Amino acid sequence: MGAGATSVLPSVDVLMSRYRERVLDAEIASPGLARGVIHPLAASGRHAPLRKAGTPAKERQALEAAVTGAATDLSALAAAADKRAADLLAGQIAGLSDPALIGPAFEAIEGGEPAATAFRDAMDLQIADCQAAEEARLRARAEDLIDLRDRVLRHLVGGGTAKPKAIPENAIVVAEEFTPSRFLEIDWRRACGAVSLVGSPTGHLALLARSRGVPLLIAPDADPAKLNPGLEAIVDAEAGRLILAPSAPTGRDYDARIAKRERERTQTQRWLGKPARTVDGIAVRVYLNVDDPALLEGVDPAHCDGIGLVRSEFLFPGESGLPDEERQYRVYRALLAWAGGLPVTVRTLDAGGDKPLAGLAPEGEANPLLGLRGLRLSLARPEVFRVQLRALARAAAHGPLKVMVPLVTLSEEFNRARTLLTEELSALEEGGIVAARPELGIMVETPAAALNIAEFDADFYSIGTNDLVQFVMAAGRDCAGVAELLDPQNPAVLELIMRVCARGRALGREVSVCGEAASRPDCIPALLKAGVRALSVPPATLGEVKKAIALAEIGT
Ligand code: PEP
Ligand code: MG
Repeated sequence: MGAGATSVLPSVDVLMSRYRERVLDAEIASPGLARGVIHPLAASGRHAPLRKAGTPAKERQALEAAVTGAATDLSALAAAADKRAADLLAGQIAGLSDPALIGPAFEAIEGGEPAATAFRDAMDLQIADCQAAEEARLRARAEDLIDLRDRVLRHLVGGGTAKPKAIPENAIVVAEEFTPSRFLEIDWRRACGAVSLVGSPTGHLALLARSRGVPLLIAPDADPAKLNPGLEAIVDAEAGRLILAPSAPTGRDYDARIAKRERERTQTQRWLGKPARTVDGIAVRVYLNVDDPALLEGVDPAHCDGIGLVRSEFLFPGESGLPDEERQYRVYRALLAWAGGLPVTVRTLDAGGDKPLAGLAPEGEANPLLGLRGLRLSLARPEVFRVQLRALARAAAHGPLKVMVPLVTLSEEFNRARTLLTEELSALEEGGIVAARPELGIMVETPAAALNIAEFDADFYSIGTNDLVQFVMAAGRDCAGVAELLDPQNPAVLELIMRVCARGRALGREVSVCGEAASRPDCIPALLKAGVRALSVPPATLGEVKKAIALAEIGT
């Protein structure tokens, strides 16, 4: 090649640098380790060149068709998804017919904008508002809106319903903006890890990844141009690192760590069938927390003592509030049937706070965690509460169903709940409808309830440490900046737990813990020492929890 001529081939240095190990810091959204090859998802339609405008009528039609196409995709995904995911998708589908969300785009079309520009700009404004919000719930909503924006844009500018290309074995799926519905399109039996360049470790995407055990990193510093298909990579969602083109020693090191993790997981499963008994012989009952009955598939009821917490607000995805009595009754009965004679504890609707339910929980409260939520909301909406109590009383005729009420502060609130239950039982009896009185317990989630526990004549007590800890420590459970304060082992929290346990012992009534602390091996010894003898935990943690109990020494 003559002097001065420039080569179109990359230099050897550039080529080598592509294969040199690079380590990027990333946020952990779902823990785990994965080694595989990069599989980038096609970019969203957001950056595609947008067409010139046709007539407003044509553009309106184009947007309507794209919105319908997006709703059809989402419905198909929802039909194949588990309940929690279907719930999330139902929220998105509802958004597509919400005039507040899509109205501004149609207005811009009338003003002469092309459909794609109008829709993208209108959504971008709403996304920016959500991203700038102080409330974590609104910030998480930004993820859903991005998902909707991109799905509709793909229909408008091309790509349409195209499914992601076949996922190679051991893929590490990378997306610039990995949205929940795109996540649900992936076959995670083939892929082993995920990376999103944008997102929040507390958003819906993270919840979906965690419930499926998919390690997920949020890596804002990764350059999408360098995440080439087939490039070897490691998702270290234990240390928060994305390693590209790992060297041979790094690869070997991670292979060993991944194999060790897998061995530990298999060993933990061995504890499933063993009795939950401490080193010093104290028996502990272990119940399950159920948000989504699909997660009970593959769980053997013989490995637990029943269901200790059914979060009824999550049982009916896509509903605003709870469905009619008959549907509720059937779902509660199905849980009793799964448990085969073991107790099933259903918590009455716990809407409001961090679980907004459209049309039911109040909107716009300055501090919803301290607002009209839990039992307070049920008492304010007796027409909803009574239907749930009737459905529960009818189901209780078919097995050991227990009912508990969330976020109780005063004994008067609990007494009013008991009165409503008694009234509904009488009405059922008068109508000749088969029903039975379920045991009625309280969730201890407020410091007031824990301190005044002697005033509560409940059939059982279940300590919701997630809420209790946030109120004792004055640190919001969704405020990342104060997460270190959320310590269930803080002496102030343990003092309250001991108090409730003493009350339970004195009356011979059960005290359980159903918050996250119950499934944390590091917290279990302290809970047992405080007097807790029943834990309720997510199904996926059952083996680990039984192991932690078996290794604990209480030393009474
Ligand atoms: C709790 O607060 O500990 C609890 C189990 O309820 P939730 O997490 O649903 O508020
Ligand atoms: Mg709670």
